[in-house]
Amino acid sequence: MNLPGRHLLLLTLGLLLLTGCGAARQTRIHHSQLLSFGTLVDISLWDASPEQIENAERIIHDELHAMHHDWHAWQPGPLTETNQQLRGGEWFVCPPAILPLIVQAKQLYQRSGGLFNPAIGQLVALWGFHSDTLPKGPPPPKEAIASLVARKPGMDAIVIDGQRIRSTNPAVQLDFGAFAKGYAVDRIIEKLIANGIGNAIINAGGDLRAIGRHGDRPWRIGIRNPRGPGVLAGIELSGDESVFTSGDYERFFRYRGKRYHHIIDPRTGYPARGVTSVTVIHDNAATADAAATALFVAGPEEWHPIARRMGIKYVMVVDDKGRIHMNPAMARRIQFESEQKPEVVLSKPL
Ligand code: ADP
Ligand code: MG
Repeated sequence: MNLPGRHLLLLTLGLLLLTGCGAARQTRIHHSQLLSFGTLVDISLWDASPEQIENAERIIHDELHAMHHDWHAWQPGPLTETNQQLRGGEWFVCPPAILPLIVQAKQLYQRSGGLFNPAIGQLVALWGFHSDTLPKGPPPPKEAIASLVARKPGMDAIVIDGQRIRSTNPAVQLDFGAFAKGYAVDRIIEKLIANGIGNAIINAGGDLRAIGRHGDRPWRIGIRNPRGPGVLAGIELSGDESVFTSGDYERFFRYRGKRYHHIIDPRTGYPARGVTSVTVIHDNAATADAAATALFVAGPEEWHPIARRMGIKYVMVVDDKGRIHMNPAMARRIQFESEQKPEVVLSKPL
């Protein structure tokens, strides 16, 4: 999560009303953008009333506030307090804003074979990514990385008993950066549905969940090109689907010609290698977000068994040579936008 400042800007692009020639049917699409606490969210709603639109914007604002305040990995709040208590190793009552994330993160950690590991906050901090500004390098000393990896921080060290938790490993420091956005998007969608909104896309910087349809056709979205401007591919979405991408271009620094990015392989303590981006489609946004990170760490050779374990049915991995690895079901859905078709490596079905 990159959360630079406390801006709040509401940009309503307006309600576009299109009425077919003399036809009784009305088609209505509403788009607006909300920049809240440093995260830009695009909202698309089909056939929503002005009241529903207002509710949607309020819901999104409230959830982004929660994400910024409750789950911030380094600014003082419930998560930093939780981390301080976890270091002590004693039982304590977990803040209610944190407990459900720990519960879900423990399951995703298990299913990802430990590659999605939000307990490696100390490593992420060591690399300098717990800051509003990007680090400039040099990379941390290799001894410091090795000693943290050897202490094996993992979500299995957190024991839960009702509202109380404790950590059996003092090296555990929680950082929900790899799935907080997905978790927040799930909560936003649940609340939109409760407000009677059935056709919507919530798009937080290219990571999104879509419900319903765009009138009589599916929603259509673009996946960003990891190494250049514009869109790499388009996908049609219908029903209830989340599309999440993890990329090495989101947060990184260069040092002596090498790129060091923010997705850390918990097994080595270094930024994961071999991949520039991973896109996952799944119904639940938190799972899609965690899986995109886990499969990024798994890399071009290992992503398939991990995707299977996590129950993911659609994966696209762009490797550092520009080749695109996909399972056949994903390949059937992807429509490349560029003139030059990239080299595609098809995997076994998932
Ligand atoms: P993106 O910003 O591209 O959406 P991710 O969803 O993959 O990226 O989240 C990356 C963030 O997750 C990092 O900034 C860091 O806070 C945290 N993180 C890094 N490596 C891991 C990992 N292996 N497991 C869980 N969280 C991680
Ligand atoms: Mg992620």
